[in-house]
This record gives sequence, C-alpha cells and structure tokens, in this order.
Amino acid sequence: MEQIKQQTDMDKRILIIGAGVAGINAATKLVDNGYPGELITVIDRGNDPHNRLPEEVMTGMLGAGGWSDGKLTYHTAIGGQLSKYCGEEKAMQLMDQVISNFRRFHPKPEEIFMSDPQEEPEFIKPYFGLRMFPVWHIGSNYLHEIAKTWYQYLVDKGVNFSWNTTITDIDFQDLIIKYKQGEDEFVALNAYDKLIFAVGKSGIDFAQQLSDTYKLPTEPKSVQIGVRFEAPQKYFQKLIDISYDFKLYQKFDNVSLRSFCTNNNAAYVAVEETYGDVSYNGHAKKGEEFRNDMTNFGILMEIKGIEDPFKWSRDVVQKCQTLKLDLGADWSEHGGGLYYSPSREISTTSEYALIKATKVGDLGVFKNAFGEYADYIMNFIDNMNSVFNFGDDWGMYIPEVKYLSPEPLVNYHDLSLTTYPNVHFVGDALSARGITVSGAHGIYVAEKLIQHSHLVELTQLLETE
Ligand SMILES: Cc1cc2nc3c(=O)[nH]c(=O)nc-3n(C[C@H](O)[C@H](O)[C@H](O)COP(=O)(O)OP(=O)(O)OC[C@H]3O[C@@H](n4cnc5c(N)ncnc54)[C@H](O)[C@@H]3O)c2cc1C
Repeated sequence: MEQIKQQTDMDKRILIIGAGVAGINAATKLVDNGYPGELITVIDRGNDPHNRLPEEVMTGMLGAGGWSDGKLTYHTAIGGQLSKYCGEEKAMQLMDQVISNFRRFHPKPEEIFMSDPQEEPEFIKPYFGLRMFPVWHIGSNYLHEIAKTWYQYLVDKGVNFSWNTTITDIDFQDLIIKYKQGEDEFVALNAYDKLIFAVGKSGIDFAQQLSDTYKLPTEPKSVQIGVRFEAPQKYFQKLIDISYDFKLYQKFDNVSLRSFCTNNNAAYVAVEETYGDVSYNGHAKKGEEFRNDMTNFGILMEIKGIEDPFKWSRDVVQKCQTLKLDLGADWSEHGGGLYYSPSREISTTSEYALIKATKVGDLGVFKNAFGEYADYIMNFIDNMNSVFNFGDDWGMYIPEVKYLSPEPLVNYHDLSLTTYPNVHFVGDALSARGITVSGAHGIYVAEKLIQHSHLVELTQLLETE
C-alpha cells in the first residue's frame, strides 16, 4: 500500500502562481480534502497579510480581493464565466463554497449580510430590464483580518508560501520557471507537476506574454465599448434606493447594452490610459468631504459578430482621441477623449482637477467613431430620460472601453489548457471579473485534481489486486 501511495497523484507537486482569491481558494480546497500541504507552493509578487500595505491594491495575500469592496455577488450572469464550464447548478454550489470560506475566516461572521432585491420596479418598464442578484457584503474593513486568519490556516496545513517573488517566465514544455526576488533572478528546473495559473488583473501582461510565446488557442471575445454617463444623483435616487449598483439593460439582436459600475454620493469620473489612449471609468470616494451628489456609470454595449473586436475597439477609441484629431487648436490642446453635454460642463476629479477631456458641441465625432452603434447609446439615454426626467442635466465622457484580453482555450472539465493539460488557468486570468467567480474557478480545479488523484489511486489499487 505504501508503495502504491507514492505513485498516486496525491504526490504531485502543485505550484500556484498568485495568492489571490482564486489561488487561495484552490489551496484551501486541496488541503481541506487531505492533500498534503507540503506539496503545495503558492508564489506571489506581493506581501503576506501581515506586511501588505493599503496602497498595495492588487498584490499580496488574497490579491485584488484582499483590498476590494468585499461584495460577493451570487449569480452566474455576474462576474465572468462559470456555468459555461460546469453548468448552472455546479456553479452555484462552487460560489457557495467561496462564500463559506470568507465566512469561515471572518472575525465576525454574524455581521455578514446579504442584499437581495426581488422585483423589477414598475417605473423602469417598458424601457429597461434590471439585473437583480443577491450580494453578500463581507465588509471591506474585515478583509485584512480574514486574510491573516486564512493564511495561518494554510501555513498550519503545511502549504509553502513565497512572497515578493515575481514569476517572469514559464517553460510549459520543460516545467521550468524563472522568477525574480528583488533584483535577483533565479531559475527553477522541474518546478512543478501541476500548475495553477492565478495571476489576476495585475498579471494580465504576463498572461499575454505566455499566450503569445506558446501561441495558445483562444476563445473569441465580444466588443465592450460605450461611454461614461454622469448626472446629478437626485434623478436616479428612486432606483439607487432599490439597488445601489443598479444594472439596467436592453437587448437587441446583436447588441446588448447595460449600465456598468454605478458610483453614487461621492462619484467621480476617472481617466484610464490604456495603450496610450484616454478612456473613462468611474469611482466612488468614501468620506463626506468628497460628497458631490453625482451619479456616474458606464453605458456599455456588447456587440456580437465583429470580426476582430480588439482591433475594432482600439480603432473606435483612437477616433475619439482629440489630440489625434484635426479639430483646431482650441480643441486639441485639451487632449483626452470627448465630453458631450447639452448643458453641463466637464466635472472635476476627486483631486479637484478638471477631467482630461475635450468638450464638443455636437455628436459628430462620436457618431463618426462609433458608426451605427452611437444610436444605440443615444437611444439608451433617451429612454433613461423618459424614466428619470433629467432633461438636459447630463453629460457623457467618450469612450469607455473594456478590452477583454483573449481568453485562453481551456478544457471545460478542469480549466486546463487544451495544449498543456497540467496547466490550469483560473480567476481573472481566465476572464473572471469578480471574487466569487474567481474563487469558484480555483475550487473547481482543486476538486478535479483531487478527484483525479483518487481515481489514479483506485486504479493502481485494482491493478495490484
Ligand atoms: C479596488 C478593487 C475593488 C474590487 N471590489 C470587488 C468587489 O467588491 N467584489 C468583487 O466581486 N470583485 C471586486 N473586485 C475584483 C476582484 O477583486 C477580482 O476579480 C478578484 O480578486 C480576482 O481574483 P484572482 O485570484 O483571479 O486575482 P487577484 O485576486 O488579483 O490575485 C492575483 C495575484 O497574483 C499575483 N501575481 C500577479 N502576477 C504575478 C507574477 N508574475 N508572479 C507572482 N505573482 C503574481 C498578484 O500579486 C495577486 O496577488 C475588485 C477589484 C479591485 C481592484
């Protein structure tokens, strides 16, 4: 029996790159099921929970989830792909496990609460649908404590952690990894048997680098592009009272539109620079001193059937860059994207600087850039006006864009690369966009690794009998 055990998959070394939500949930599921912690190594470019600083938003124990808003969404249509891989019922079950892990390591689990709007309000009909889904509120103030307790649990189970260690290259063929600690570079040969790649958003460039090197087959992605809408909060208050981060949506044949990432109370439009171009996003500040009683949200279109969505989106974004347009000196000197409003002026950032945008008097440049799709956005705004009656008291920053990085093609049953079956992609690295789905990816892979171990063990046992 002893000899058989040595040959089973329970003896495979599992390397997890990224101590974020996905990686940590995977490690937890493994050790909870008796996988020897000593065979699991978690590497992260950030700090352990005792040394992680508040400004380290994306790296360290629990990754981006560690300093997040702590809102655990509980619906398979929110937060990225999950049921696509494992079916609806299993997806909900996996999300339950993530939520229960946060509860388990929470210092005051009784303070976790769930908001669960039930009915679409009559007043948004017949123009819009409202996406409603339960959200568990962990309390962002507790995440740090959760991270510490969770970490200790894994350390006690024997899991190895390597902090402040950045993986810079992986040789999938020969199982070699290159990594940096400070300025020093190292190479580890025969570094793993199974690899869980969980680098999140902060590792997106690294994921792209690997995808290019290994010419990984990818899933086609749709375009997500639109504008950031801004208006005084009072017009939307009756909807905010029902759902703080409301998600209005409209669906047409090949285009669907939704409001995205709503900010209220102290809501500021934020400039994003991607690939050297300006686009817009928004954020809400905490603290009464920042209150401006504004609401902003993206109006994003998902357009199906565009041949090269990435190139098309970049093209649209570039056509909105005023520095690149021949619009006359008084415009182009401002730079940034476009701002259009029938009555308002450009707002300020939370640091009280003018938002980098150029105000345009008509919709010509916008319509030229977006083509026929500009009408969908204007129609969405007109419909909102019918419901919320904001008249001319609104503005929009153009464009807002989500460049969905190509998603590597994985085997749906265990999220392993179709070309390297011992490498599993999880979390935001596999186009998740939230804590619950990312954690669920991690648990899903861990379950498959455990099942596989038991299967190998059983087969070998039968063979020896
Ligand atoms: C400010 C903010 C607030 C958010 N609020 C919410 C919220 O309330 N609810 C919600 O559902 N989602 C929220 N999100 C999104 C959510 O945090 C992510 O979707 C989730 O954390 C993704 O999990 P992950 O494990 O895939 O990646 P992450 O949690 O980002 O973890 C990835 C880890 O990989 C490490 N890493 C990256 N590259 C390397 C490398 N080369 N070598 C070694 N380590 C590497 C990073 O240090 C990081 O710790 C928020 C995100 C942010 C930034």
